Amino acid sequence: MNLGDLTKSELKEYITSIGQKAFRTGQIFSWIHGGIESPDEMTNIPIPLRQKLSEDFEIFLPTVYKKLVSKLDGTVKYLFKLSDGNIIESVVMDYHHGKSICISSQVGCRMGCSFCASTLHGLERNLSPFEIEGQILRAQKDLGEKISNVVIMGIGEPFDNYDNIIKFLKNINDESGVNMGYRHITLSTCGLADRIRDFADEEIPINLAISLHAPTDEVRKGLMPVAKAYSLEKLMSACDYYFEKTHRRITFEYALVKGQNASFGEAKRLAELLRGKNCHVNLIPVNPVTERNNIRTNEKETRDFQRALESMGINATIRRELGADINASCGQLRNNEL
Ligand code: SAH
Repeated sequence: MNLGDLTKSELKEYITSIGQKAFRTGQIFSWIHGGIESPDEMTNIPIPLRQKLSEDFEIFLPTVYKKLVSKLDGTVKYLFKLSDGNIIESVVMDYHHGKSICISSQVGCRMGCSFCASTLHGLERNLSPFEIEGQILRAQKDLGEKISNVVIMGIGEPFDNYDNIIKFLKNINDESGVNMGYRHITLSTCGLADRIRDFADEEIPINLAISLHAPTDEVRKGLMPVAKAYSLEKLMSACDYYFEKTHRRITFEYALVKGQNASFGEAKRLAELLRGKNCHVNLIPVNPVTERNNIRTNEKETRDFQRALESMGINATIRRELGADINASCGQLRNNEL
């Protein structure tokens, strides 16, 4: 077991169970989540306790397997290697307010969205809480800089790995760990409605983004198999519940795929679906994936769709593209290694 996978209360339980004083918990927690890679680095911990920790646990951070740096805007794409040899992908982007990292939540994905590269080879396994956090810690060490925002929009469906995501969120929010404020974290889900309801009850006030991508069940089912399990009615009702409980504005992501979801009629139906909701639409011209046949909308079509939404009273922005010269969107870098 990886020492970083324990929550603080689990760590405290372990520390006291081996006859140590509880105050060691905070010290050890802050070393692990500060990015050390061996108990030998815990200089304020007595050597016998460090040895005991080494006997009972491992401390493993993902290692840099490949790194690509954009010459255009400094975006960094990492392939990280896990202790079992699996490969995951993370991206660090530079914004005026600081660095933001996009991290993976699973090795592969089983959601099957028709435009996405991450799901082409299915799901290999879930990431543990510390494997999710390790992407942040390793990137910070590699860049020698603190990362100020986290988006869980890499490979995998975070709510398909629910318990580990919750542990991860609590651990990185902890003051003696990474100390990342909840408002600096965004989680994106393809819309597992039951989990959205569970999450509303957790009192973890991060930003929630929903991958909507279609205004009707019919169109959505053609793009996202998850729409067969959860109708838009169920999804929207879970979103309403989330808003009632948290008062947090939801972002709806909408990847524009030419000929499938990008017509004026679809903009109109989308505006009807979202009317009266406190929300925001993020439009993404779909990133073409080699194995798929999706065509992105051009600049004019994208703007027209945005204007149509705005004229009907729906807030919509177009996602800026970063790292275009190292463009291997969502999971394509990993696929090249399989
Ligand atoms: N499974 C989660 C998070 C990972 S995907 C989810 O579905 O939200 C992060 C976002 O990128 C999602 O909105 C996803 O639909 C979108 N995405 C995936 N492949 C894409 C592509 N080829 N072009 C544009 N957006 C894509």
